[in-house]
Amino acid sequence: MRVICSVSMFLMLATALSAQAPSFETTRIGDGVYQFRWQAHNSFVVVTSEGVVVVDPISTDAARQLSQEIRRLAPNQPLRAIVYSHSDADHATGAGVLREEFGEEIPIIAHANAVDEIQRTGSDDLPLPDVTFTDRMVLRYGDKTIELHYLGNSHSDNMIVTLLREDRIAFAVDFVSNDRMGFRDLPGWHFPDFFEVLDRLRGLGYDTIVFGHGPAGDRASIDRQVSYYRDLRRAVAEAIEAGLSEDEAAARVKLPAYSSWGQYDAWLELNVRGVYRWMAAGQ
Ligand SMILES: [Zn+2]
Repeated sequence: MRVICSVSMFLMLATALSAQAPSFETTRIGDGVYQFRWQAHNSFVVVTSEGVVVVDPISTDAARQLSQEIRRLAPNQPLRAIVYSHSDADHATGAGVLREEFGEEIPIIAHANAVDEIQRTGSDDLPLPDVTFTDRMVLRYGDKTIELHYLGNSHSDNMIVTLLREDRIAFAVDFVSNDRMGFRDLPGWHFPDFFEVLDRLRGLGYDTIVFGHGPAGDRASIDRQVSYYRDLRRAVAEAIEAGLSEDEAAARVKLPAYSSWGQYDAWLELNVRGVYRWMAAGQ
């Protein structure tokens, strides 16, 4: 008994320590293209022959570590631009740290709809963008062309997808992932536009896709996301047709084909509730 106790105490201590420790990792995705992970969030880093572009600084702490990683990956190279995938503070915070490190004149680029949202919810650590666009923007630095695409309302009304057409690599945040449920009860999700955005994402030319959370995937990852949301929508529609309440639908809809996905146990029920509320409101 004493042994079991000390083992479990050791495990608790180890878990507590690992939860406290700053944890980051830089993964090479392609030629000059990197995923920078800070705890559970990912940034997208593009090293061109004329400097570096970063999508999502994540937080002030993450941006400090990211600055060191940029210096390591691209010594003596300038930072050319900071892009916000969308206005949510857990991805967009920290640009000021990058500007302190690399230059106050570095532009921050975001979708035009992000401005109001950041004015409403932002902080001193989440500066406003100074360059915005509504549909598509193309950045050209040296050997890289970086396309920013607004595909419509998805997880927010200002979500953009980054595409390196020649490298066939994309970066998409929060509204898709690699075999993981949607976030909780899908807060801020715009239905039914979201389904159209998934189809448009399928139409972009990439073979590898980096996500705001979790490991990178490929085209099949997006096909599986499309299947999941289609199956979720169908199952919830059937539950509503059968006269089930939101609580009953949340308890009964199981979608076992996705039981191996991340957060299935915690978030499937909440995903059902998010879609149920949308569908029930439309009736
Ligand atoms: Zn978000």
